[in-house]
Amino acid sequence: MTFRVLTAELSHETNTFSRRVTGAQAFRDRYVLIGDEAAAARSEANTELAGFLDAGREHGWQIEHVLSAAAAPSGKVERAAFEFHCDPIVAAAERGRFDGILLGLHGAMVLDFCEDGEGELLRRIRASISRDIPIAITLDPHANVSPQMCSLADIIVSFRTYPHIDIRETGHRAGAILHRTMSGEIKPKTIRVSRPMLEETNGGRTDVGPMIERLAAAKNYEGHADVFAVSINAGFASTDIADVGPTILVTCQGNLDQHIAFAETLAEDIWTRRHETLNNYMNVDEVAAIGSAFDPRNGPLVIADYADNPGAGGYGDSTALLCALLEARVENACFGPMVDGEVVQVLQRSEIGRRVRISLGGKMDPEFGGGPLDLEGELIAISEGDFIGDGPILGGLHRSCGPSAVMRVDGIEILIVTIAQQMLDLQQFKSFGIEPESKRVIAVKSMQHFRAAFEPIAGQVIVCDSGALCTLHYERLPYRNVPRPIFPLDPDMSLN
Ligand SMILES: [Zn+2]
Repeated sequence: MTFRVLTAELSHETNTFSRRVTGAQAFRDRYVLIGDEAAAARSEANTELAGFLDAGREHGWQIEHVLSAAAAPSGKVERAAFEFHCDPIVAAAERGRFDGILLGLHGAMVLDFCEDGEGELLRRIRASISRDIPIAITLDPHANVSPQMCSLADIIVSFRTYPHIDIRETGHRAGAILHRTMSGEIKPKTIRVSRPMLEETNGGRTDVGPMIERLAAAKNYEGHADVFAVSINAGFASTDIADVGPTILVTCQGNLDQHIAFAETLAEDIWTRRHETLNNYMNVDEVAAIGSAFDPRNGPLVIADYADNPGAGGYGDSTALLCALLEARVENACFGPMVDGEVVQVLQRSEIGRRVRISLGGKMDPEFGGGPLDLEGELIAISEGDFIGDGPILGGLHRSCGPSAVMRVDGIEILIVTIAQQMLDLQQFKSFGIEPESKRVIAVKSMQHFRAAFEPIAGQVIVCDSGALCTLHYERLPYRNVPRPIFPLDPDMSLN
């Protein structure tokens, strides 16, 4: 029997503290690919859709792919932008008489009219199809998974790596479980347990630390005949909503009490080890001092500007780290990306090689990570900002930074872009003529994803909390909607 499967990808990680609202243009800036256009761009890369198509080929499905759309992490998604992408998925589901639905979602989308973006999408799909049609979804482990999402989707599978290098594999896994469900072999549901925390203490880091053991336990439990997927979600802290925080999901059947008891053991481990921080978060002066004295014999020093990560909704225009590096007279360095479209427009009217004066960054919210820097330097390059990744996360995928420029100020080459992008891939420097391998110091706006491409070339990696919007000093953020008490806002709380 040939199953008919509807697929779609819709992804946004919403930082509800960001002033940058997420409208339709923000999706167009990242990607909006309709139908076959999406398969052409994404089927041979580390994407959910590639994994869905792998499963479809394996099982001979007839697939209708509606769309693939994502916006960079930023503020709440406007209703019109949500409905522009949601409506065609719902309409296709209603029209298509499908045997199953398979969606690549993020899990931390907040709408300007609803806290639970993915729950709202699933609610609308469910309202237009029979309850018997299974829905499988994949999630980024930085998902804040609501009970509603678990009751509306039968199958939920999250990535198991951070940096996320297993996105395609996750799509394939979800597709395989969906196939068994459509065939009538299994009848899964997804259970959820949580702890009152903003996020798992190390943001779900999987390369070192306690998550390695948790994932091994999860994988082992998946050996149970009635267990199809165990997902460990770190949650996403920059979200002021009721269902914030880490969750353990088990997609399973049979003895649910037993599966809940297992999930509780993982959740309890996340709770009891909440003080085990893996990164040493230095301030900007500490990292600048290390940078100015660094011996690059074994490769460059990589400094992560953790708090201004555009991949978590940071504005990408915080100046505190760049200012400290310039003051410490760090030589032979590169820095990027700095998001400042206004400055790029000025630079694009100038000539390569010219000395120019600019007022760079710090425009979105100087309270978080510093105000504009008045700089003079040499314009090195201008570009339309397109690049194709070649690293473990973005390999083969096209991205755009919008109109971009490179300036050299004292010893630092600064990549200035229009569209916010986390630094994920060496091509984000190389495509603009910056050679990161040859630098003594590389400063990147990223929390953890940079490690996939930059650790192999790094002599040392250090992490900086520059005080920007994604700072670990959560007490600086105006949380109103998260349930209290919650860790770490209420550090002395106990669980009964
Ligand atoms: Zn993530």
